[in-house]
Amino acid sequence: MKQIKLCKEFSFSSAHSLPLHAGLCKNIHGHTYTLQVYVQGPLETQELPNKGMVIDFATLKQIVTDRVISKLDHQYLNDTLDFTTTAENMAVWILSQLQEAMDDHNGTFGKVEVTKIRLYETPTCFVEVEA
Ligand SMILES: [Zn+2]
Repeated sequence: MKQIKLCKEFSFSSAHSLPLHAGLCKNIHGHTYTLQVYVQGPLETQELPNKGMVIDFATLKQIVTDRVISKLDHQYLNDTLDFTTTAENMAVWILSQLQEAMDDHNGTFGKVEVTKIRLYETPTCFVEVEA
């Protein structure tokens, strides 16, 4: 069955600091992050032969908002996350959150996988993690 890829982009603003970092990032500062969530799945399944979409964009928005954006937006990340709040670590955490959430929904949509997370810390710097 043909696999179709899609992506939805989100934005959130947070404060953080990297206490163990020698440079300026040891001080509290903020970012407006851009998050791109890439998913992949079939256009139809045996159970849903006329589905016609991988996943409703509105549903994807709801999942990402519930599992990620609502936890990070306008938060001090060092208090919210129990790891060093580098973009690399955050991207890994976001991927695992969304993989877990998508597993909960796969009964409804057939097999939809989160394949990649791209997290921009600034407009010119991003990290990417693949499933
Ligand atoms: Zn920073």
